[in-house]
Amino acid sequence: MGAIVAIVGRPNVGKSTFFNRLIQRREAIVDAVSGVTRDRHYGKSDWNGKEFSLIDTGGYVLGSDDVFEQEIDRQVELAIDEADAIIFMVDVETGVTGMDEDVAKLLRRVEKPVFLAINKVDNAQRAEDAVEFYALGLGEYYTLSSINGSGTGELLDALVEVLPEKDDEEADLPRFAVVGRPNAGKSSFINALIGEDRYIVTDIAGTTRDSIDTKYNRFGFEFNLVDTAGIRRKRKVKEDLEFYSVMRSVRAIEHSDVCLLLFDATRGFDGQVENIFWLAQRNNKGVVILVNKWDLVEDKETNTVKQYTKQIKKAIEPFVDVPIIFISALTKQRIYKAIETAVDVYKNRSKKIKTRQLNDVMLPIIERTPPPAYKDKYVKIKFITQLPTPYPQFAFFCNLPQYIRDPYRRFLENKLRENFDFTGVPVSIFMRKK
Ligand code: GDP
Ligand code: GDP
Repeated sequence: MGAIVAIVGRPNVGKSTFFNRLIQRREAIVDAVSGVTRDRHYGKSDWNGKEFSLIDTGGYVLGSDDVFEQEIDRQVELAIDEADAIIFMVDVETGVTGMDEDVAKLLRRVEKPVFLAINKVDNAQRAEDAVEFYALGLGEYYTLSSINGSGTGELLDALVEVLPEKDDEEADLPRFAVVGRPNAGKSSFINALIGEDRYIVTDIAGTTRDSIDTKYNRFGFEFNLVDTAGIRRKRKVKEDLEFYSVMRSVRAIEHSDVCLLLFDATRGFDGQVENIFWLAQRNNKGVVILVNKWDLVEDKETNTVKQYTKQIKKAIEPFVDVPIIFISALTKQRIYKAIETAVDVYKNRSKKIKTRQLNDVMLPIIERTPPPAYKDKYVKIKFITQLPTPYPQFAFFCNLPQYIRDPYRRFLENKLRENFDFTGVPVSIFMRKK
């Protein structure tokens, strides 16, 4: 699992500027590989070799000015529930505000590590002004300038120090997370599998439920089923469940090997579902897409399945090698097929291909279709090896790695998929100099 760090604070203190600075380096790399659009408020970062997910909770705050105060309370509560560490950002230009005091009050009671980050300290004079923030009663603080980057290193040093160590992914039981929008049928699905009413299923999104990771055995294969519908406190019922489900999804996805992404067939594979899909994909998790409530779809001739499939694949391009299964949690139609497929995806994700076999298959393909010349340079790929990571990553050693363009990279990925079956699993390709 990766650690989660949440940035909280009132609007305009510089949260997104800071967020962008931290994820930029990495996103540039991710971008080149996938070319997908992403959520601007969730990203991965690393410092001193420690990786973490960063959430700009303020990025999810919607609505007019007068609801800000309420929204910020909620932001902080969510951060407290879901994050491993919290960065509380304030602005030295404006000094301590009432809203800062309110947030500080909530954070003072928290057991999790809180880092008070005083932003916009662009010069020495402002460093002196920062002293007034001691009044927030949060102790030590960090001064920084998100715009010019000064001070961010000190904050990150301290931050990664307190983050939990990464678990050994392979040591535990495989974890399947059931994710999706509120009301997609996640609890019903888990109920149907487990066959007992451990979860209270109702029509009202946000009913209090308990979340239990269930150990499950099927097809001689043992795994943990992770529910995301759970742990909704009563006082949260009236809150924006969409936002809440994003936060919960982040956490569940981080802790999973394979995500079962459920959506309601009568509502379609919309932008929110897509967001959850990309969360899983960017975390290199396996994915199975489950089109739920299939019993409600009236006209189920072959064409309907084709249309759904086409619509989904269009939304998840170019990562289309993902199983799509049409299920009903209500009638139990194909629910075991869903699990069986998740097991296959899990196996694909942990698959290790021997270097010899990899080269025997891939080198002749590359010889037949070599990388196109770029700026009059010819790239020669010499050998390929799978990296010893928990999910498939391949290094292609060549003379001029910088001249391999995206289309050729995708060609290589497709050939790997055709020959070795990585269905449901993101595959990373790195060009290395040799
Ligand atoms: P958010 O609402 O908390 O996400 O704040 P933004 O990141 O959108 O920043 C609000 C404003 O503060 C923008 O105009 C930024 O350019 C500015 N800002 C952010 N960080 C700094 C900084 O370190 N120094 C200065 N001088 N301005 C900053
Ligand atoms: P969750 O919020 O994703 O956990 O969704 P629930 O499991 O609470 O389901 C929301 C509503 O959809 C409930 O009324 C369920 O009975 C209903 N539902 C769930 N799965 C199905 C299904 O396959 N078919 C039909 N017709 N209704 C379903």
